[in-house]
Amino acid sequence: MNTRKTLRTNEKGHLEIGGCDATELAEKFGTPLYVMDEQYIRDMCRVYRETIAGSYGGNGLVLYASKAFSCMAVYKIAAQEKVGIDVVSGGELYTAVKAGFPAENIYMHGNNKLRQELEYALECGVGTIVVDAYSELDMLDLMAADRGKTQDILLRVNPGVEAHTHHFIQTAKTDSKFGFSLADGSAEKITEYALRKKNIRLRGYHCHIGSQIFEKQSFRLAADKMMAFMAEMKKKHGFCADKLNLGGGYGIWYTDEDAKISSAEYALYLEAVIEEIKAKAKEYGLREPCLLIEPGRSVVGEAGVTLYTVGAIKEIPGIKKYVAVDGGMFDNPRYALYQAKYTAVLANRMNDKADDIVTVAGKCCESGDIVCANVRIPKANSGDILAVLSTGAYNYSMASNYNRNLIPPVVLAKEGKAEYIVKPQTYEDIIRNDVIPEYLK
Ligand SMILES: *Cc1c(COP(=O)(O)O)cnc(C)c1O
Repeated sequence: MNTRKTLRTNEKGHLEIGGCDATELAEKFGTPLYVMDEQYIRDMCRVYRETIAGSYGGNGLVLYASKAFSCMAVYKIAAQEKVGIDVVSGGELYTAVKAGFPAENIYMHGNNKLRQELEYALECGVGTIVVDAYSELDMLDLMAADRGKTQDILLRVNPGVEAHTHHFIQTAKTDSKFGFSLADGSAEKITEYALRKKNIRLRGYHCHIGSQIFEKQSFRLAADKMMAFMAEMKKKHGFCADKLNLGGGYGIWYTDEDAKISSAEYALYLEAVIEEIKAKAKEYGLREPCLLIEPGRSVVGEAGVTLYTVGAIKEIPGIKKYVAVDGGMFDNPRYALYQAKYTAVLANRMNDKADDIVTVAGKCCESGDIVCANVRIPKANSGDILAVLSTGAYNYSMASNYNRNLIPPVVLAKEGKAEYIVKPQTYEDIIRNDVIPEYLK
């Protein structure tokens, strides 16, 4: 079905994830429910870490891009698997710190980090800040000076490589709120500016060329451009960057339109980049930089499944058939945001012929509230357990309380056991911060 070892159909004809029967999980924990396969997450961390160890002498660090799925348990797993993390907000940082994540292995991103977020990062001792604005650099320098310390930073660079799933383009002018452009000289200007700051230590550069990318050549090209830029900075300014962070973006399987990438093949993506860096270091006479990568989706995406219960079914003759579930855009807004495609199955009837084409709709008051469109499943009945696959990334982390629906809980499945890592919300949680001012009473 997909690349995951632990997703299979069991003897009862039920979907099994992490050794747990999905229908039993639905029974025990209720629906909607996010299920994450712990082993899958650990395996992906290891694949990347071992590739850096084996092919690059361990001169690097995998940073799990935690915006894909952020909760305390996942930070614990990342720490145990000896990977670092990147965070993009004070809230993600707080969650990681509360989970006991070592601050020196945290990289902090953001195109508009708030003053209080930067203060908090310094207070926590965040290892590296990835700077994306002049104003940020100024603030950071003053804050570090106040604390009598020097803060390590990378600069976010836009290398002019734009990748979109199955193709990529090179551009000199990229319209992006992220990064300083290589092509127009802004990356060089901010380099000079950063080097003059007394309480800032510029360690190198970061770039992130996009997401859900399957094209090895786009990653190679980005590495190539970054190495060329580093050589130029050494020559012109005597600045030897010792860190190169190439971001994330490795694609995953959502539907059969996507490649099914095995963990061995993910290693090949990284090896292609490592080869490029080594070759360019030799060519330019640079020391091989410490390599950082930031996979998010590929670490947790295929580890996740969302379980729903089928409710109302509505057929519009000659148009389409809607199968409504007890979730929707509040647990997975990706269809509403960008028509994301998914594969759905009936977890209680895995061996039935999938001969119906339906649109899975949510329960929100919004006609765009679709979970997935035109999916092929067996003829569904109310009460069936519908599972949407590859929902581990950018689902729970993008969930909301729209319509005051409760954000579903998350369970972690491993070897036939499952436990909450995010508990169910309650209606009290929904009104926790509501206040009725005196004059309205
Ligand atoms: C989103 C993001 C990532 C992770 O991307 P994936 O496609 O989930 O691997 C990594 N780095 C940065 C800076 C990002 O914004």
